[in-house]
Amino acid sequence: MALILTQEHIERMQAHAAQAYPHEGCGLLVGTFAPETEEKSLVKLVLLENAWAADVAAALAERGQPQAAAMTKARRYWIDPQELLATQRQAREDGLSIIGVYHSHPNAEAVPSECDRELAWSTYSYIIVSIRNGIAVDLQNWQLDNNHQFQPEPMKIAPASAARDRMPLLSS
Ligand SMILES: [Zn+2]
Repeated sequence: MALILTQEHIERMQAHAAQAYPHEGCGLLVGTFAPETEEKSLVKLVLLENAWAADVAAALAERGQPQAAAMTKARRYWIDPQELLATQRQAREDGLSIIGVYHSHPNAEAVPSECDRELAWSTYSYIIVSIRNGIAVDLQNWQLDNNHQFQPEPMKIAPASAARDRMPLLSS
């Protein structure tokens, strides 16, 4: 598979990650799947607050992730389930679907962590922005293989005008 996105999408994720620093930033990738070419196209970037909090950590610790209890927003992100539902609903209305997740790694590589792997969905693209001292230094895209291991997923940069042509259903 490959993920098609624009330079503007990349810059917006980098800016969002810088704003969230030293915490992890996160967001949802909304777009389309093309089964015939196995390509995903990013149409809309939904940038979110990192909702990681003590109660989320406690719930995950209870569900068999004891290391979660000690983690903070600097090392983990959480997407509020209400935001996820709202994004899903809006995407459906627009004839789109959630195709992936973006998050940042403050002062760490743009490589998925074990926690990222455990929580990942098989068809999604996972974009990770590495941010050091508040500056985005790397951006990588990952997808799970059949063994639930992350592999790099190629990104194709589309001209901004081409991306607009792909969203006739969107009014904005
Ligand atoms: Zn991560």
